Amino acid sequence: MRHFAIVGSGPAGFYTAEALEKAYGDGARVDILDRFPVPYGLIRFGVAPDHQSLKAVSKRYDKVAESPGVDFIGNVTVGRDVSVDELLEFYDAVILAIGAPHDRKLGIPGEDLPGVIGSAEFVGWYNGHPEFADLDPPLDGSHAAVIGNGNVALDCARILSKTRAEFEGSDIVGHALEALDKSAIRTITILGRRGPHQIAMTPKELGELGHLEAALPIVDLRDFPPREADEALEPGQRKSVTILREFADLRANKRTTMVFDFFAKPIAIEGEGRAEHIVVERTELDDKGGARGTGETYEVPASLIISCIGYSTPPIDGVAYDKRGGKFLNERGKIGDRLYAVGWARRGPTGTIGTNRPDGYEVADQIAADMPPGSSSDRPGAEGLKALLEGRGVMPTDYDDWRKIEATEVARARPGSPREKFVRVEHWLETLGR
Ligand SMILES: Cc1cc2nc3c(=O)[nH]c(=O)nc-3n(C[C@H](O)[C@H](O)[C@H](O)COP(=O)(O)OP(=O)(O)OC[C@H]3O[C@@H](n4cnc5c(N)ncnc54)[C@H](O)[C@@H]3O)c2cc1C
Repeated sequence: MRHFAIVGSGPAGFYTAEALEKAYGDGARVDILDRFPVPYGLIRFGVAPDHQSLKAVSKRYDKVAESPGVDFIGNVTVGRDVSVDELLEFYDAVILAIGAPHDRKLGIPGEDLPGVIGSAEFVGWYNGHPEFADLDPPLDGSHAAVIGNGNVALDCARILSKTRAEFEGSDIVGHALEALDKSAIRTITILGRRGPHQIAMTPKELGELGHLEAALPIVDLRDFPPREADEALEPGQRKSVTILREFADLRANKRTTMVFDFFAKPIAIEGEGRAEHIVVERTELDDKGGARGTGETYEVPASLIISCIGYSTPPIDGVAYDKRGGKFLNERGKIGDRLYAVGWARRGPTGTIGTNRPDGYEVADQIAADMPPGSSSDRPGAEGLKALLEGRGVMPTDYDDWRKIEATEVARARPGSPREKFVRVEHWLETLGR
């Protein structure tokens, strides 16, 4: 028998568990650990609440969790409740799938002013992440800015501009719905350091902006290269750029405007005691396609500024770390002897949910090459881990506990919502009678 511990129950953790199960059959037990008693990582806490069809991917993970060789062990923070070295004593291999939950810093003066928040915080707030339940983003000003030109920036801008009715059918948490309903924001500037050809926004997410009830996307066609230049783009990117160009033809009188400000590099955030505006430097493309400052500056008013410029994985004691890449140092997923990384903790914060599947399968293949199916060891697996946790007063939860939490959330759902999420760890544990 082999025992494997996967740390993190997001997409990468689940795809790896699925792959290990396929490779080892009943010759292995796979434990998926998570710091929370609720699984699925960013499927619950990241993917936008109005994108329910995407969240349905968790049904596939349910199947993995329900299979006999796989267990979910929640409420255990690796690095705090148990170290990686300790896990390696109990398990034949440890696979770190902890994602990249920390916002990258802007690195400009004023970024610590009240009103400046990272997307992990803002997204966590509207998705019911317990650490951000009290965020209370300032929605009292008329101007907001979103820094970044990827899909997370689009999510943030869209959520800020939707009407209450447009959240029908979503699982946005109640506190965010109420606050957004009273929001005074009427202009959202989306700042990108480079131009329309360099966006990392996908057509579906961009297209949604053209159909919002009370918000209108605005682009300036002078920011675009000649239309013929679009031919050189790869088809998906060409589609995105075409959608952006079409925004120029939209005419409507709507409550909120979303202004795409390209070739705009934030260089400082200023205000009296709170963010009031961003100082932006106009840029142009350099020979390598990077952004080069032109020296021309201007101000973009914003009392709420959300930076969507990427994430990093927190280091864990004793685990090799790539500081520049903000992820674990690894060679095709292998960090060291019997220690591996998958998903965002391996590759950095790029790609879609599906990208984590081949990633997990590749690492499972590596593990199978290192300790072939059919081989065994006398490591104790979960038995050893649970004894150690008990001695430390840590109470792990299991998959049935998660199903109880889920059923309670579904039962509490307000009309038009599939569930009303618990946003505090105490409430999860209360549901379980702990
Ligand atoms: C705002 C946002 C929106 C997104 N929207 C989409 C989308 O619409 N479509 C799409 O395809 N992709 C989307 N993505 C990308 C997708 O969410 C990621 O590709 C995917 O979640 C990465 O999987 P992961 O398993 O590596 O990390 P995560 O999903 O972050 O999972 C990591 C898990 O590890 C756990 N963990 C962390 N630290 C510890 C620890 N020390 N001990 C124990 N457990 C720990 C966490 O609780 C979490 O459950 C989005 C991402 C973000 C940030």
